[in-house]
Amino acid sequence: MQQELSAELLCSIANTYGTPLYVYNADKITAQFRNLQSAFVNSNTRFFYACKSLTNINILKHILSIGCSIDCSSVNEAHLALHVGFKPENVLYTSNGIDFTEIEEALGLGININIDSLSNLEKFGKKYGHSYPVGIRLRPNIMAGGNLKISTGHSNSKFGIPIEQVDEILQLVQEHQIFIRGLHIHTGSEIKDVSVFMKVAEVFFDLVPHFPELEFLDLGGGFKVAYKERDHLTDIAVLGKEIEKFLGNLEMKHQKKFQCWFEPGKYLVSESGYLIAKVNVLKTSQDTVFAGVNTGLNHLIRPMMYDAFHRIANISNPEGEIKTYTVTGNICETDTFGTDRHLHEVREGDFLAIYNAGAYGFEMSSNYNARYKPAEVLVLDGKASLIRKRDEFSDLLRNQITVL
Ligand code: PLP
Repeated sequence: MQQELSAELLCSIANTYGTPLYVYNADKITAQFRNLQSAFVNSNTRFFYACKSLTNINILKHILSIGCSIDCSSVNEAHLALHVGFKPENVLYTSNGIDFTEIEEALGLGININIDSLSNLEKFGKKYGHSYPVGIRLRPNIMAGGNLKISTGHSNSKFGIPIEQVDEILQLVQEHQIFIRGLHIHTGSEIKDVSVFMKVAEVFFDLVPHFPELEFLDLGGGFKVAYKERDHLTDIAVLGKEIEKFLGNLEMKHQKKFQCWFEPGKYLVSESGYLIAKVNVLKTSQDTVFAGVNTGLNHLIRPMMYDAFHRIANISNPEGEIKTYTVTGNICETDTFGTDRHLHEVREGDFLAIYNAGAYGFEMSSNYNARYKPAEVLVLDGKASLIRKRDEFSDLLRNQITVL
């Protein structure tokens, strides 16, 4: 299994398909999923790929083919999942701030649903009573995650029903006989510390007695992957053992088996993806040399939105002398991919690879500055295939209506 694509292969793919270009390595996705499976082999755990991170249907099909289930954050993602062949019971829809009609639509698809507001829970209870099992998304008031924008469980977060409103939840459940099959808590993304997940488990431990029909406890996603050398990662092996203990304790206390669910996004696809850009211009300034590339925040917004660090390498001059560069995009705002990066000598026309671009890369891309969205290529069994065409001019006009 080839876990990292070589500079040579990436250059040859870039020469074939042009740049900017997203390239994904299916083997890496498989390897990450197998890591999870082996770490949790002794606990009753299911994994739902958080497909908001990357929804190309070929990626979804690959996820399906390796036996992973899927988590959606909109009903359209659920439609995509069903479109590629996931069975409804393997599709989870964890909603946030949605109109009730979307819940009704999801229910019509027969998929698993986590409800995240009291008002939707009430509407659900009134309309469906006990007839359709659901999960409840809770906000535990735990601060976790790599930065505030990706922290979702703290006491000022919009996500989930605040834990202090559990009495209101129980009242609605009782009044409408709602079938609560699961509890859900996602505290954030890029959580290094296993203890955060175990704090969530403690919250669940206390809540379980209130929900006699519970079957699963969903701890969301958020496993931290490596963005640079010596990065501190979530210790999946330790987490697997802790979850095993937690489920064992629950079973002992309640004489009933429960299942843990997780919704990994980045863990499965972040490291599988590369954004390949061409260097358009070099500009020498007082303190640095700018390497201006033919992509920008319109294609990979994470560095600008979250100050996310993405490793960058000059893949077309791997033997060049190491020099310092600031890698910038071509958008009309400051879109810096990396400041003072040590790269092999960069020449105009070189290809730079931006790593960890699989998750929330293409998926958050736009046509800002009327630039085309990049093409996407999947490498599977050593073979590179185009899985999305680069936009063309007609894509910029699509859906626009001429009235003048
Ligand atoms: N589950 C939920 C509810 C989320 O909001 C997210 C990320 O936003 C995820 C799962 C996936 O997180 P990650 O990509 O960090 O694993």
